[in-house]
Amino acid sequence: EQRRVTRTFDGRGRTADGHEVALLANVGDPDNARAAAEAGAQGVGLFRTEFCFLDRAEEPGVEEQAEQYRRVLEQFPGKKVVVRTLDAGADKPLPFVTDAEEANPALGVRGLRTARKAPQVLENQLAAIARAADATEADVWVMAPMVATVTEAEDFVAACERHGLGTAGVMVEVPSAALLAGPILARAAFASIGTNDLTQYAMAADRLLGSLAELSDPWQPAVLRLVEATCQGGAQQSRPVGVCGEAAADPALAVVLVGLGVSSLSMTPRALADVAAVLAATDLATCRRLARAAVDAESAADARARVREGLPVLG
Ligand code: PEP
Ligand code: MG
Repeated sequence: EQRRVTRTFDGRGRTADGHEVALLANVGDPDNARAAAEAGAQGVGLFRTEFCFLDRAEEPGVEEQAEQYRRVLEQFPGKKVVVRTLDAGADKPLPFVTDAEEANPALGVRGLRTARKAPQVLENQLAAIARAADATEADVWVMAPMVATVTEAEDFVAACERHGLGTAGVMVEVPSAALLAGPILARAAFASIGTNDLTQYAMAADRLLGSLAELSDPWQPAVLRLVEATCQGGAQQSRPVGVCGEAAADPALAVVLVGLGVSSLSMTPRALADVAAVLAATDLATCRRLARAAVDAESAADARARVREGLPVLG
Protein backbone atom coordinates (compact mmCIF):
# COMPACT_ATOMS: atom_id res chain seq x y z
CA GLU A 1 0.00 0.00 0.00
CA GLN A 2 1.39 3.41 -0.95
CA ARG A 3 0.98 6.43 1.28
CA ARG A 4 1.92 10.03 0.66
CA VAL A 5 5.51 10.95 1.35
CA THR A 6 6.18 13.51 4.05
CA ARG A 7 9.81 14.63 4.31
CA THR A 8 10.53 14.33 8.01
CA PHE A 9 12.53 11.78 9.95
CA ASP A 10 11.19 10.80 13.35
CA GLY A 11 14.29 8.84 14.33
CA ARG A 12 12.92 5.42 13.44
CA GLY A 13 13.18 3.68 10.09
CA ARG A 14 10.46 1.23 9.11
CA THR A 15 8.40 0.08 6.18
CA ALA A 16 4.68 0.86 5.84
CA ASP A 17 3.88 -2.44 7.57
CA GLY A 18 6.28 -1.82 10.46
CA HIS A 19 9.34 -3.85 9.43
CA GLU A 20 12.23 -2.06 11.17
CA VAL A 21 15.22 -0.81 9.18
CA ALA A 22 17.83 1.09 11.21
CA LEU A 23 18.69 4.38 9.50
CA LEU A 24 22.23 5.30 10.45
CA ALA A 25 24.78 7.95 9.50
CA ASN A 26 28.18 7.88 7.84
CA VAL A 27 30.61 10.14 9.72
CA GLY A 28 34.28 11.01 9.50
CA ASP A 29 35.04 13.07 12.61
CA PRO A 30 33.47 14.44 15.81
CA ASP A 31 31.89 17.44 14.00
CA ASN A 32 30.11 15.18 11.49
CA ALA A 33 29.03 12.97 14.36
CA ARG A 34 27.35 15.90 16.11
CA ALA A 35 25.53 16.85 12.89
CA ALA A 36 24.41 13.24 12.45
CA ALA A 37 23.06 13.06 15.99
CA GLU A 38 21.19 16.34 15.43
CA ALA A 39 19.67 14.96 12.22
CA GLY A 40 18.18 12.13 14.28
CA ALA A 41 20.35 9.28 13.03
CA GLN A 42 19.67 6.08 14.97
CA GLY A 43 23.40 5.57 15.29
CA VAL A 44 26.47 5.46 13.08
CA GLY A 45 26.78 2.74 10.45
CA LEU A 46 30.19 3.87 9.23
CA PHE A 47 32.77 5.90 11.12
CA ARG A 48 35.59 6.41 8.60
CA THR A 49 38.44 6.69 11.12
CA GLU A 50 41.04 7.45 8.45
CA PHE A 51 39.33 10.82 7.93
CA CYS A 52 40.60 11.88 11.36
CA PHE A 53 44.23 11.45 10.27
CA LEU A 54 44.48 12.17 6.53
CA ASP A 55 47.07 14.93 6.98
CA ARG A 56 49.42 12.86 9.17
CA ALA A 57 52.90 11.71 8.24
CA GLU A 58 53.25 9.74 11.50
CA GLU A 59 50.92 7.31 13.19
CA PRO A 60 48.86 9.12 15.84
CA GLY A 61 49.43 7.73 19.34
CA VAL A 62 46.90 5.48 21.09
CA GLU A 63 45.97 8.26 23.49
CA GLU A 64 45.25 10.76 20.73
CA GLN A 65 43.28 8.23 18.69
CA ALA A 66 41.23 7.22 21.72
CA GLU A 67 40.35 10.87 22.31
CA GLN A 68 39.16 11.38 18.72
CA TYR A 69 37.07 8.19 18.80
CA ARG A 70 35.64 9.07 22.20
CA ARG A 71 34.44 12.42 20.85
CA VAL A 72 32.47 10.60 18.16
CA LEU A 73 31.13 7.83 20.42
CA GLU A 74 29.92 10.22 23.12
CA GLN A 75 27.38 11.69 20.67
CA PHE A 76 25.51 8.36 20.62
CA PRO A 77 24.89 7.08 24.15
CA GLY A 78 23.04 3.78 24.06
CA LYS A 79 23.22 3.68 20.27
CA LYS A 80 25.17 1.62 17.81
CA VAL A 81 28.36 3.10 16.36
CA VAL A 82 30.21 1.02 13.77
CA VAL A 83 33.87 2.02 13.87
CA ARG A 84 35.79 1.07 10.76
CA THR A 85 39.49 0.45 11.18
CA LEU A 86 41.77 2.56 8.98
CA ASP A 87 40.89 2.28 5.31
CA ALA A 88 44.17 3.69 4.08
CA GLY A 89 45.31 3.35 0.51
CA ALA A 90 43.94 3.99 -2.99
CA ASP A 91 42.08 7.33 -2.86
CA LYS A 92 43.01 7.79 0.85
CA PRO A 93 46.78 7.33 1.30
CA LEU A 94 48.15 7.55 4.85
CA PRO A 95 51.95 7.81 4.71
CA PHE A 96 52.46 5.77 7.88
CA VAL A 97 50.80 2.66 6.40
CA THR A 98 50.64 2.94 2.62
CA ASP A 99 53.26 2.58 -0.07
CA ALA A 100 53.24 5.46 -2.57
CA GLU A 101 55.05 3.37 -5.19
CA GLU A 102 52.23 1.00 -6.14
CA ALA A 103 51.20 1.01 -9.81
CA ASN A 104 47.56 0.06 -9.03
CA PRO A 105 46.75 1.37 -5.56
CA ALA A 106 43.04 0.45 -5.74
CA LEU A 107 44.17 -3.16 -6.15
CA GLY A 108 47.05 -2.84 -3.77
CA VAL A 109 47.82 -2.82 -0.08
CA ARG A 110 44.81 -0.91 1.20
CA GLY A 111 42.33 -1.32 4.03
CA LEU A 112 42.89 -4.39 6.20
CA ARG A 113 45.73 -5.45 3.89
CA THR A 114 47.94 -2.76 5.45
CA ALA A 115 47.98 -4.90 8.61
CA ARG A 116 50.21 -7.43 6.80
CA LYS A 117 53.00 -4.88 6.63
CA ALA A 118 52.16 -2.85 9.71
CA PRO A 119 50.31 -5.14 12.16
CA GLN A 120 51.12 -2.86 15.09
CA VAL A 121 49.10 -0.01 13.56
CA LEU A 122 45.97 -2.20 13.68
CA GLU A 123 46.79 -3.36 17.21
CA ASN A 124 47.23 0.22 18.37
CA GLN A 125 44.01 1.31 16.74
CA LEU A 126 42.02 -1.52 18.32
CA ALA A 127 43.52 -0.60 21.70
CA ALA A 128 42.41 3.01 21.15
CA ILE A 129 38.89 1.99 20.09
CA ALA A 130 38.58 -0.26 23.14
CA ARG A 131 39.69 2.58 25.40
CA ALA A 132 37.20 5.00 23.83
CA ALA A 133 34.43 2.41 24.04
CA ASP A 134 35.06 1.96 27.76
CA ALA A 135 34.78 5.71 28.29
CA THR A 136 31.32 6.09 26.68
CA GLU A 137 27.87 4.52 26.65
CA ALA A 138 27.82 3.84 22.89
CA ASP A 139 27.23 0.31 21.62
CA VAL A 140 30.53 -0.07 19.76
CA TRP A 141 30.83 -2.38 16.75
CA VAL A 142 34.14 -2.66 14.89
CA MET A 143 34.65 -3.60 11.26
CA ALA A 144 37.49 -4.03 8.81
CA PRO A 145 37.54 -2.58 5.28
CA MET A 146 38.57 -4.53 2.15
CA VAL A 147 38.18 -8.02 3.54
CA ALA A 148 38.56 -10.53 0.68
CA THR A 149 38.96 -13.95 2.34
CA VAL A 150 37.56 -16.06 5.16
CA THR A 151 40.99 -16.12 6.83
CA GLU A 152 41.18 -12.32 6.87
CA ALA A 153 37.77 -12.19 8.55
CA GLU A 154 38.82 -14.81 11.08
CA ASP A 155 42.10 -13.05 11.91
CA PHE A 156 40.38 -9.69 12.29
CA VAL A 157 37.72 -11.06 14.62
CA ALA A 158 40.46 -12.71 16.71
CA ALA A 159 42.40 -9.43 16.91
CA CYS A 160 39.27 -7.59 18.06
CA GLU A 161 38.58 -10.24 20.69
CA ARG A 162 42.09 -9.79 22.11
CA HIS A 163 41.12 -6.18 22.78
CA GLY A 164 37.77 -7.09 24.31
CA LEU A 165 35.88 -5.82 21.25
CA GLY A 166 33.22 -8.50 20.96
CA THR A 167 31.13 -7.24 18.05
CA ALA A 168 33.54 -7.53 15.14
CA GLY A 169 32.40 -7.56 11.55
CA VAL A 170 33.60 -7.01 8.03
CA MET A 171 32.87 -4.74 5.15
CA VAL A 172 31.75 -6.52 2.01
CA GLU A 173 33.23 -4.42 -0.77
CA VAL A 174 35.27 -6.99 -2.66
CA PRO A 175 33.22 -9.42 -4.77
CA SER A 176 35.03 -12.43 -3.26
CA ALA A 177 33.67 -11.48 0.17
CA ALA A 178 30.11 -11.23 -1.18
CA LEU A 179 30.41 -14.70 -2.70
CA LEU A 180 31.87 -16.12 0.54
CA ALA A 181 29.49 -14.27 2.86
CA GLY A 182 28.24 -17.53 4.42
CA PRO A 183 31.60 -18.77 5.72
CA ILE A 184 32.75 -15.22 6.49
CA LEU A 185 29.65 -14.60 8.59
CA ALA A 186 30.20 -17.89 10.39
CA ARG A 187 33.17 -16.00 11.92
CA ALA A 188 32.14 -12.34 11.85
CA ALA A 189 29.23 -10.88 13.82
CA PHE A 190 27.91 -8.75 10.97
CA ALA A 191 28.59 -7.49 7.47
CA SER A 192 28.28 -4.01 6.06
CA ILE A 193 28.22 -3.73 2.29
CA GLY A 194 30.30 -0.89 0.86
CA THR A 195 28.55 -0.42 -2.44
CA ASN A 196 31.04 2.21 -3.65
CA ASP A 197 33.94 -0.20 -3.74
CA LEU A 198 31.81 -3.28 -4.38
CA THR A 199 30.62 -1.58 -7.57
CA GLN A 200 34.13 -0.47 -8.50
CA TYR A 201 35.51 -3.99 -8.13
CA ALA A 202 32.54 -5.84 -9.64
CA MET A 203 32.49 -3.61 -12.71
CA ALA A 204 36.27 -3.03 -12.93
CA ALA A 205 35.53 0.70 -13.18
CA ASP A 206 37.45 3.32 -11.18
CA ARG A 207 34.95 4.95 -8.81
CA LEU A 208 36.61 8.35 -9.31
CA LEU A 209 36.38 8.32 -13.10
CA GLY A 210 33.36 10.32 -14.26
CA SER A 211 33.66 8.96 -17.78
CA LEU A 212 32.83 5.48 -16.45
CA ALA A 213 29.81 6.59 -14.40
CA GLU A 214 27.52 4.31 -16.39
CA LEU A 215 29.53 1.32 -15.17
CA SER A 216 30.14 2.71 -11.66
CA ASP A 217 26.47 2.40 -10.88
CA PRO A 218 25.17 0.38 -7.92
CA TRP A 219 21.99 -0.29 -9.92
CA GLN A 220 24.01 -2.60 -12.16
CA PRO A 221 22.25 -5.96 -11.80
CA ALA A 222 25.60 -7.71 -11.27
CA VAL A 223 26.17 -5.54 -8.19
CA LEU A 224 22.65 -6.24 -6.93
CA ARG A 225 23.32 -9.96 -7.30
CA LEU A 226 26.39 -9.60 -5.08
CA VAL A 227 24.25 -7.78 -2.51
CA GLU A 228 21.74 -10.61 -2.73
CA ALA A 229 24.51 -13.20 -2.23
CA THR A 230 25.72 -11.32 0.84
CA CYS A 231 22.22 -11.23 2.31
CA GLN A 232 21.82 -14.95 1.66
CA GLY A 233 25.05 -15.56 3.59
CA GLY A 234 23.73 -13.37 6.41
CA ALA A 235 20.41 -15.22 6.52
CA GLN A 236 22.23 -18.57 6.54
CA GLN A 237 24.25 -17.55 9.61
CA SER A 238 21.56 -15.35 11.22
CA ARG A 239 23.88 -12.35 11.03
CA PRO A 240 22.78 -8.82 10.20
CA VAL A 241 23.80 -7.29 6.90
CA GLY A 242 23.80 -3.50 6.44
CA VAL A 243 24.74 -1.16 3.60
CA CYS A 244 26.97 1.86 4.13
CA GLY A 245 27.83 2.87 0.55
CA GLU A 246 26.20 5.76 -1.31
CA ALA A 247 23.52 3.36 -2.59
CA ALA A 248 21.83 3.51 0.82
CA ALA A 249 21.09 7.21 0.26
CA ASP A 250 19.10 6.59 -2.95
CA PRO A 251 15.48 6.11 -1.76
CA ALA A 252 14.49 3.79 -4.63
CA LEU A 253 17.61 1.70 -4.18
CA ALA A 254 17.05 1.63 -0.41
CA VAL A 255 13.71 -0.10 -1.12
CA VAL A 256 15.55 -2.71 -3.19
CA LEU A 257 18.21 -3.23 -0.51
CA VAL A 258 15.57 -3.75 2.18
CA GLY A 259 13.78 -6.18 -0.14
CA LEU A 260 17.02 -8.12 -0.50
CA GLY A 261 17.25 -8.48 3.29
CA VAL A 262 19.44 -5.59 4.41
CA SER A 263 18.53 -4.58 7.99
CA SER A 264 20.31 -1.22 8.29
CA LEU A 265 21.15 1.60 5.91
CA SER A 266 23.90 4.09 6.67
CA MET A 267 24.15 7.33 4.73
CA THR A 268 24.98 10.99 4.73
CA PRO A 269 22.67 12.55 7.37
CA ARG A 270 20.91 14.80 4.86
CA ALA A 271 19.52 11.73 3.03
CA LEU A 272 17.84 10.25 6.12
CA ALA A 273 14.47 11.99 5.76
CA ASP A 274 13.92 11.06 2.11
CA VAL A 275 14.93 7.44 2.60
CA ALA A 276 12.74 7.17 5.72
CA ALA A 277 9.77 8.65 3.86
CA VAL A 278 9.92 6.26 0.92
CA LEU A 279 10.37 3.22 3.19
CA ALA A 280 7.46 4.38 5.37
CA ALA A 281 5.25 4.43 2.29
CA THR A 282 6.26 0.97 1.03
CA ASP A 283 5.45 -2.39 2.60
CA LEU A 284 7.97 -5.21 2.88
CA ALA A 285 6.24 -7.38 0.27
CA THR A 286 6.58 -4.52 -2.24
CA CYS A 287 10.26 -4.08 -1.31
CA ARG A 288 10.79 -7.78 -1.98
CA ARG A 289 8.90 -7.76 -5.26
CA LEU A 290 10.82 -4.72 -6.52
CA ALA A 291 14.12 -6.22 -5.37
CA ARG A 292 13.38 -9.32 -7.43
CA ALA A 293 12.52 -7.15 -10.44
CA ALA A 294 15.77 -5.17 -10.08
CA VAL A 295 17.98 -8.24 -9.62
CA ASP A 296 16.37 -9.89 -12.66
CA ALA A 297 16.91 -6.81 -14.87
CA GLU A 298 19.54 -6.95 -17.56
CA SER A 299 20.85 -3.40 -17.22
CA ALA A 300 21.09 -0.65 -14.63
CA ALA A 301 18.62 1.46 -16.62
CA ASP A 302 16.16 -1.42 -16.76
CA ALA A 303 16.51 -2.06 -13.01
CA ARG A 304 15.87 1.62 -12.24
CA ALA A 305 12.88 1.81 -14.56
CA ARG A 306 11.29 -1.32 -13.08
CA VAL A 307 11.61 -0.01 -9.53
CA ARG A 308 10.50 3.55 -10.30
CA GLU A 309 7.42 2.17 -12.01
CA GLY A 310 6.58 0.22 -8.86
CA LEU A 311 7.07 3.24 -6.59
CA PRO A 312 4.57 5.97 -7.48
CA VAL A 313 5.44 7.47 -4.09
CA LEU A 314 8.62 8.83 -5.72
CA GLY A 315 6.47 11.10 -7.90
C1 PEP B 1 32.25 1.88 0.17
O1 PEP B 1 33.24 1.47 -0.43
O2 PEP B 1 31.07 1.78 -0.27
C2 PEP B 1 32.40 2.52 1.49
C3 PEP B 1 31.33 2.81 2.22
O3 PEP B 1 33.65 2.84 1.90
P1 PEP B 1 34.48 4.10 1.28
O4 PEP B 1 33.53 4.89 0.44
O5 PEP B 1 34.98 4.81 2.47
O6 PEP B 1 35.53 3.39 0.50
MG1 MG C 1 35.14 1.31 0.52
